[in-house]
Amino acid sequence: MVRIGLVAHDDKKDDLCRWAEHHRDKLALHELWGTGTTGSRIMAATGLEVTLLKSGPLGGDQQLGAMICEGRLDVLIFFIDPLSAQPHDVDVKALTRLATLYDVPLANNKSTADAVLAAV
Ligand code: PGA
Repeated sequence: MVRIGLVAHDDKKDDLCRWAEHHRDKLALHELWGTGTTGSRIMAATGLEVTLLKSGPLGGDQQLGAMICEGRLDVLIFFIDPLSAQPHDVDVKALTRLATLYDVPLANNKSTADAVLAAV
């Protein structure tokens, strides 16, 4: 079982929910953590259990970053919206920086998420 973090910016939440529905059976084998809104949407779409953190702009991204540096997260699926500015851009950068620093597999789009999930 691996511990998977799930985050999507607003315009990418539908994409991540569809991805989670497609991979529902495999995701059910793992421990899922999500930022508040993303995690709630995924639970509603799939029926999977997702442990909810704060909403991203309210600190959820930083909670995931803390999990990474404490060795409590194995994979990060983070669907970033490349076409919109994010008010919490500093938190987004901090989270992707920590995933890179700690060599945590980080998927920013569907194709990479497919590949990462296939590898766990
Ligand atoms: P949210 O946070 O799931 O609470 O919307 C995601 C984000 O970091 O934008």
